[in-house]
Amino acid sequence: MSAKIISGTEIAAQIREELKKEVAELKDQHGVVPGLVTILVGKNPASVSYVTGKQKTAHELGFNSIQDDQSENIAEADLLKLIDKYNKDSKIHGILVQLPLPKHIDEKKVLNAIDPDKDVDGFHPVNVGRLMIGGAEVKFLPCTPAGIQELIVRAGFETSGAEVVVVGRSNIVGKPIANIMLQKGRGANATVTIVHTGTKNLEAHCKRADILIVAAGVPGLVKPEWIKPGSCVIDVGVNRVGEKLSEKTGKMVPILKGDVDFDAAKEIAGAITPVPGGVGPMTITMLMKNTVASAKMHAGLQGK
Ligand code: NAD
Repeated sequence: MSAKIISGTEIAAQIREELKKEVAELKDQHGVVPGLVTILVGKNPASVSYVTGKQKTAHELGFNSIQDDQSENIAEADLLKLIDKYNKDSKIHGILVQLPLPKHIDEKKVLNAIDPDKDVDGFHPVNVGRLMIGGAEVKFLPCTPAGIQELIVRAGFETSGAEVVVVGRSNIVGKPIANIMLQKGRGANATVTIVHTGTKNLEAHCKRADILIVAAGVPGLVKPEWIKPGSCVIDVGVNRVGEKLSEKTGKMVPILKGDVDFDAAKEIAGAITPVPGGVGPMTITMLMKNTVASAKMHAGLQGK
């Protein structure tokens, strides 16, 4: 039987509708409007496109959203001053500095200057530590891993007691999703294994997985015979494997493939995410969710 396809596009749209309502209620009942600033240094085309997508979504949800464009030549000290200004701005609840930054700027120094309580990307060392501790300590989950957890929950998979195998140990996907899945509570409480380039028998670990999360960046790494029948497969990988002509625009567009052989895997798994249209659409949505949570936290409205 063919697997259920977990559509990130549909689930992200559903969450955005929920957020839109929440934002309207926050405004009507408490006079609170979530504020997000995206800081873009220079004009790297990929960065411009990412920031534009984030701003567009923030506008659609009714946020106070600010796009702050800075020259590629901005001095590091001036960028730090700008972050400090937004740290102190009570109308701003989320600060995002689009990476990469020009070479003369120390990225780590800049990201660490963001107030951890406005770090809606969830990568500040304080937020990484909070996630490690878990429970009420956690303020913001990093967006892609948070999106993965949401996909698993909304697809109806039981995580408590499940064997979760994560392929990849990066700081932006592998480590945080493993950490999220092992916490106590909703959508977690799993037995987690992380496998990576140092792992001896990748196949044996993958075969045990009730939930297999693959974030390696290697097209077709996970073979269909590695998948446990009926399991939930989350393919985070996005790999450009060629180009094709778009019928819509008449322009060449990249052909994207995941880390899992989708066509064969969908005949074995119980549920699987496609690439594109799986994890990808969730990331910006979770950034918005974090910004709403931050606005509530700053207004003393958590849990309302
Ligand atoms: P990364 O390169 O930082 O980390 C990849 C990890 O996979 C490493 O820890 C490595 O040990 C492991 N790995 C690589 N090859 C392996 C192999 N042959 N066997 C076992 N382990 C192996 O990558 P990343 O930033 O974690 O991203 C992973 C993939 O997810 C990429 O394709 C990236 O484009 C994609 N991604 C998608 C989204 C999204 O959809 N929103 C977000 C982030 C990353």
